[in-house]
Amino acid sequence: MESETLFVEEAEPPGRLTGIVGPTQHHDFNTSLSTLCTPVAVPTTRSVFKPVPLNDSRSRAFRKRFFPNATPKEWQDWHWQLRNRIRDVETLGAMLRLSEDERHAMSGQASSLPLAITPYYASLLDPWNPKQALRRTVVPTVHEQFRSSGEADDPLHEEQDSPVPGIVHRYPDRLLFLVTGNCSTYCRYCTRSRMVGHQGNHCLNTDQWERGLAYIAAHPEVRDVLLSGGDPLTLADEQLEWLLLRLRQIPHVQLIRIGTKVPIVLPQRITPALVKMLKRYHPLWISIHAAHPDELTAETARACTRLADAGIPLGSQTVLLAGINDDVETMRRLVQGLLMIRVKPYYLYQCDPIPGSSHFRTPVAKGLEIIRGLRGFTTGYAVPTYVIDAPGGGGKIPLLPEYAEGREDGDLLLRNYEGRVFRYPDAPARESVIH
Ligand code: SF4
Repeated sequence: MESETLFVEEAEPPGRLTGIVGPTQHHDFNTSLSTLCTPVAVPTTRSVFKPVPLNDSRSRAFRKRFFPNATPKEWQDWHWQLRNRIRDVETLGAMLRLSEDERHAMSGQASSLPLAITPYYASLLDPWNPKQALRRTVVPTVHEQFRSSGEADDPLHEEQDSPVPGIVHRYPDRLLFLVTGNCSTYCRYCTRSRMVGHQGNHCLNTDQWERGLAYIAAHPEVRDVLLSGGDPLTLADEQLEWLLLRLRQIPHVQLIRIGTKVPIVLPQRITPALVKMLKRYHPLWISIHAAHPDELTAETARACTRLADAGIPLGSQTVLLAGINDDVETMRRLVQGLLMIRVKPYYLYQCDPIPGSSHFRTPVAKGLEIIRGLRGFTTGYAVPTYVIDAPGGGGKIPLLPEYAEGREDGDLLLRNYEGRVFRYPDAPARESVIH
């Protein structure tokens, strides 16, 4: 499979084909309507495809160096990727030149969150630079061991909104169904670091799934179930299908969603067999956790293409992280790149105050600055909703830069994306409408 390719559409050079200028093409707005209907040479798009190699030379070189006995087929096998995850300082130290800080974090007091990185994602890490964005998201540092003021194991009070293990029921018509505590790769800023990667109460099993399903079945107001964890796509196809089938047997469950980071850290998991199974359970939506534009590789593009081609709407969720994606340019590249692989940027989260997260958290002003730097400068499809998941269980609260400047003579004063102020003749409030 080493030579397998992904195909991307490429624009035909301008002037080759003839078409009718329509309102979607560039034109002078003073041009008359008759001129607009004149056939002229315009650029158009044809099925001209340019192959993009799936296993880029970096991944291939990494495999040959650190997994010399692995075949290209094994590298593409998600079970092989899971079996060969990097889970200890010695193995990671052979692949990356670890800083003292990183080495100390992994050798000293155990963090509450285990270490695990798929070989695929490890191949994207910079061996020389501990400050590289992707490396910082998955390699522990000593900062994780310092608890700052306001931090808590369960800052969102999910346990308090959990009527049965694995269910978090906070909003009126939907709930979270945590179906596994496992992930293929552990993010160092994980909101559920209290439970992921551990055994015990959070080792979810079919007994707990049955209790969760019984709760959902007994609550007709639940029309929308979000499977999360942990990462539901680390379950076997059969386990996942069992859950989807049982959910589809509950008449009031209209929408099923899956939250996952698998297309980013383990894209090999998105097999034709998986998407063939998933498409039997529509309407099914998937939210993909993406942190940085460098994660949008050809492998991830292929995984998202397979899901999108199966009719699964894809959205992204991104945590705002200091020194990783907290600038407009990085976030612009991420959201525009996501659209190019058919993923709609959905939420930008303020980082939750879990223990040892202070080095990841930014001021809220930074998030607002990023939204202001996106809105108007790129399509609205690319602009996620910036939210704080309120500590204490308040749910997601959206935050927007201030665009309304006030009122003058009954007009609303509005500042646009360029900073210019415009007036809108707002309608006066009416007590009642007389017919
Ligand atoms: S993939 Fe999600 S659940 Fe798993 S460690 Fe990362 S943030 Fe946590």
